[in-house]
Formats: sequence, structure tokens, C-alpha cells
Amino acid sequence: MEELLFTVGPVQMYENTKKISAQQIPYFRTNEFSKINNRIVENLKKCMFTSQDSKVALLTASGTAAMEAAVCNIFNNNDKLLIIVGGGFGRRFVDICRKYEYNIEVLELEQGKVPTSEQLERYKDRGITGVLVNIHETSTGVLYDGKSLGNFCHEIGAVFVVDAISSFLADEYKMDEWNIDATIISSQKALALHPGMAAVIVNNQTYKKIMCQTTSHYYLDLKEYFRNMERGQTPFTTAVGITLQLDDRLKQICSIGIDHVIESTRELAVDFRKKISELPFSIPSESLSNAMTPIKLNNTENASRIFELLKKEYGIVVNPCGGTVKEKMLRIGHIGNITIGDNDRLIHAFIDLQNRGIL
Ligand SMILES: *Cc1c(COP(=O)(O)O)cnc(C)c1O
Repeated sequence: MEELLFTVGPVQMYENTKKISAQQIPYFRTNEFSKINNRIVENLKKCMFTSQDSKVALLTASGTAAMEAAVCNIFNNNDKLLIIVGGGFGRRFVDICRKYEYNIEVLELEQGKVPTSEQLERYKDRGITGVLVNIHETSTGVLYDGKSLGNFCHEIGAVFVVDAISSFLADEYKMDEWNIDATIISSQKALALHPGMAAVIVNNQTYKKIMCQTTSHYYLDLKEYFRNMERGQTPFTTAVGITLQLDDRLKQICSIGIDHVIESTRELAVDFRKKISELPFSIPSESLSNAMTPIKLNNTENASRIFELLKKEYGIVVNPCGGTVKEKMLRIGHIGNITIGDNDRLIHAFIDLQNRGIL
């Protein structure tokens, strides 16, 4: 039985992506390949609504490397950073900053909650120069309000860095309008490509800030990525295969229209949430992304058994959770090449598990 992924990443790939990934890759230090990279850069900027003078660094790495690259290239030891921590990915920003011995303040949120304006208010006069946030905290399924966080950053004059990895293409995202200075994305979430490529997109002001930094890095030196991208290239061998997949997907997305892409994900999420209303689940989040629904099991604490049964007996892979909610929660992705019919297949499996007394 071919497995159907309801994960958050990697996800079900589109037919075109699979076709491309089966082909011979070209040599990449060529004008033809530079043109592909240039087109990717243009289309990425379009998809996140940022100006033509913003810059894009394409990294051959997982999303975490792009998080680290943003942190260590934009900031230094003179900065004071506020990190909004709602779960595992927020803590990852904290861990990265601690490795660099940065001066940080942590706004720890209650599970399932978004930051309130009162909470943010407390950080107003503390000399914060940068704010780091995972706009969709994928570990718990909470989507923060990018616009109001952007306003806050603008007000206090802080550089606003957003990890949009699991929200980009699933939720509205207006980089310039929301005062976002840097955006981090990666290939294996809503882009639905192979894992292995990530990107940092910065506005022109942040680009200039990076180019003036005197701290030095090697593989993650964004200055080198920006310099090379002026000729459509990368400093090191890039993930050539994923580049071709990315080019194809972005062309597709731009021709469908970004609003339509987001809307179809929203429809899948709404459909799923409607259909589980009769099942013994609750949704422990006060603000959901279209990308994913976190579900808490009301009657049992056997999430890993349900995960295994869905996989083995129904050919369905959902996203497990970690930490203290490992047995209490599962996460259902709505991104990638899935349909309303696929939702029905998952719902039927849940109903079956319920009839068997497992849910
Ligand atoms: C998936 C994800 C990442 C990236 O993780 P990698 O495993 O390094 O690709 C980072 N942040 C968020 C919010 C994510 O959902």
C-alpha cells in the first residue's frame, strides 16, 4: 500500500516534482542555471510580497541552518534579542542564540496561546534590537499575528526575523507590509519538495546591515550567498535537483496565484476540522494555521499506538508530537498534494479506530 502523508514536512509531492526528481541533473556553473536561480529569486520575492531590492540566499541545508544563518549574520553580541517561545521551534531559536552567547530575553507562552499586547508591552523599554519568531509554531500548531508583531517591532525599532517555514504558502504572508526584515523558509513544507534546501530572504536595509557585519562565518556566511547571487550562483555546490523542483513549483504557484494556493489549503483545513467535530478530539490552539491541525485525544493517551496503527493498517502517516504531549496529541498536515478525498480517507480511518475502541 502506498503511504499517504498527512505530515507537515516532508509532505505528499506533486506529480511534476516527482517527474523532475527522476531526471538527470545538469551541471550548474552555467548561464542557463544562473537564469533558473534568478527566476527562483524573483518568484520567491513575489510570493512573500517583498520588494525587488530584497535579497535571497539559497542554502543547501535544512531549515534549521537558515534559522542559524539569519541569527548569526544579522545580529552580533551587541544586540539584545527577544525570542517568542511557544514550543520546540521557539526553543530552537533560544538554543542557537545561546551557542552564539547572545544577549536574549525569552517570552515564554502558555501552550496553545499567542502573545498578548500586554505581554509584549513589558519588553518595550528594554533595549531590544531584534525579535525572533516562528510565525507558525509547528510543534503546537499556533499561528501568531505577523502584522501586529511587525507593528510592535517597528514601534521599538527592532529587526524582525520570522521563521515562516511551516506557514509560507499556507497562510497569508506580507513581508514588507508587516515590517518583516528577514524571512526563513525551507523546501520540505508547503513547497512540497525534497528536504535539503532553505532560504533566507532579507529586505534591503537588513541586507546592508549583514554586508557591514564584521563577524565571520564559513558555510553560513550570507554575504557570500548574496555576492554570488548577483550572478545567479551560490558559493558552494547547490542542491541542483531541488533547485529544478523549486523553479517548477514557483512557476506553478505564480500562475495559479498565491491567493488561490493559500485558499485551497484553507479549504482542506476547514474541511478536516468540520469532519472531526464528531470525533473525540479537541484542538488545543487559539489560533490555527491553515497548514496543520493539532488534535488532542480526549479519551485516551495512546497517540503513538494510533500513529503506528494508522501507518501499518491504513497506510496513513500523520505527524506525531514530542515532549510531554507525545501520547496526548497528534498533528495533521494540510499542505502538499492532498485532496478532500484524502481527508475522507483519514476520517474513515479515525472512525474505524473509534469503532474498534482504540480512540
Ligand atoms: C520544519 C520547521 C523547521 C525546520 O526544520 P529542519 O528539520 O531543520 O528543516 C524550522 N522551523 C519550523 C517552524 C518548522 O516547522
